[in-house]
Parts: sequence; structure tokens; C-alpha cells
Amino acid sequence: MTASTLVYDIRNSRYLNITGRCTLRCQFCPKHNGSKQVHEYQLALDHQPTATEIIPLLGDVSQFDEYVFCGYGEPTLNLKTLIEVATEIKRLGGRVRVNTDGLGNLFHRRNILPELANIVDALSISLNADTEATYLRHCKPKLKGAYQAVNDFIKLAPHYIASVQVSAINGLEGVDIKRCEQIVLDANAQFKPRQLGIVG
Ligand code: SF4
Repeated sequence: MTASTLVYDIRNSRYLNITGRCTLRCQFCPKHNGSKQVHEYQLALDHQPTATEIIPLLGDVSQFDEYVFCGYGEPTLNLKTLIEVATEIKRLGGRVRVNTDGLGNLFHRRNILPELANIVDALSISLNADTEATYLRHCKPKLKGAYQAVNDFIKLAPHYIASVQVSAINGLEGVDIKRCEQIVLDANAQFKPRQLGIVG
């Protein structure tokens, strides 16, 4: 069996794979389509990595544009590792981005943004749909109230994090990409359309 990849590089950034757990079951996620690979990396994890496992793998922070908490899972579900590793990256002078489905507050039943404010430079949040019905169809959330929660998170995030980008996928059936953009702009965040089928 191929060993789990905890860190991997794409272009000039180092990606950190800290959980295989997710709050969504997106139909378009390669994880649910028989693949756990992004580029040449095997991202399946058999456990939730600790900061002690990840920190030695950070490398020389001056060599990377940013560190991105990503992988095939929702990084805020391993919040302890996320916070400890991000704190270390900031201490070393690096830049931190978190790719999230925006359901961290719903999952943890509290606002986690104050805990991220000083250690996360940028958030990339997946909105994915302009209506609850299309969101439920494509993303199959495991928690009730997920669509409202991601919308609330998008509105709240710019109050804590300097750069907030929100994405939706162009070409996803039933999704009005223009309406997604309007939701994002109304929240004072930056809109980033993505193309169906391209991960990472
Ligand atoms: S949020 Fe990302 S990792 Fe989770 S199911 Fe959706 S595409 Fe996959």
C-alpha cells in the first residue's frame, strides 16, 4: 500500500493534508469517485495527523509562497493540528491559507474564526451552490443547516481574516454562477470561479 502523503507541493506552495474526514460528501469529489490522488499524490489517511507529525515536514518556509491546509478532507475537523501547525508556520515567518467548506462553526458549535484570526492569512471557502436545493443535491452535507451555515461563515470570515476567497464551480448542473458571485460580493469577499473536474 502506498504511504499516506501528509505534505505535497503544487507549484510554489506546500499543501498540508491533516484529515481525511469531511462534513460533506460532494458528488464531484474525486474521493467518492474511486480516486484519492491529486496530481501524483496519494491522499488517503488512516489517522488524524498530529502537529508533531506535520511540523518536521514543513521545510524551509522561505522556499514556499504559502502553506495550504487542504487534502481530501475538511481541515477544520482537525482543528487542534490546524491551529498548532499554523501557529508554527507564522512563527517561522510563512504564509497560511486554509481551504474549507465553511462548516467549521457548525461542526464545532462555536465561532472558530477568532482562533484563526492571527494565524491564518487567507481562507478559500467553497460555496458550491446558489440555492440550498442544489447544495444539498451536489454536496450531501452530513449536518443539518449546512447551507445556511456556509453562508453565515462567508459573511463572518472577512471580519477576522485578511483575504477571503469564495469559490463555486462553473459547469456544475443547476448552479447559477452569477448568483453565487453576487452572494460572495454581498459578503465583502472575493469570488473565484473554478472549473468542473480540476482539483488543486
Ligand atoms: S468538501 Fe472537498 S473533500 Fe469534502 S467531499 Fe467535498 S470535494 Fe470532497
